[in-house]
Amino acid sequence: MLLGAVFGYHIQNIFLAIILAILCHYFLDLFPHVEYNIDNITSGNWKKSLPDFLKVFLDFGIGILFIFLFSKNQPMIYICSLIAIVPDGFTLISYASKNKWLAKHDHIHGGIIHYLTKQKKFPLFWRIFTQVSSVIICLLWLR
Ligand SMILES: [Zn+2]
Repeated sequence: MLLGAVFGYHIQNIFLAIILAILCHYFLDLFPHVEYNIDNITSGNWKKSLPDFLKVFLDFGIGILFIFLFSKNQPMIYICSLIAIVPDGFTLISYASKNKWLAKHDHIHGGIIHYLTKQKKFPLFWRIFTQVSSVIICLLWLR
């Protein structure tokens, strides 16, 4: 969300900003990072999924709060920040639907692009470092 917001702020061409906002999601997913557990959602265990959805919405809310606090709050900043999380939205929807296109997207997004994140050999320090440094760089870039 934060890198999408950066593109929404700095790229004047709206079409290019939207494309970069989507692509930046996949780019940042390439780096090993920490992901919280949403197994109840991924397995379709909807009766127990409320805590998982709360984590997702808390994550979303913190992203929006950071953008609100650190950016100039122009509409394009928020539009591109939301566009940047569309790939994760596709993945969430793919768990609830049996759509073939979304399943293929999930295979590429969750399986191939998240390959390094799924490798347990990366120390926790580096997984957290990639996220913290990304957040700090984006917040500095938003100012
Ligand atoms: Zn993702």
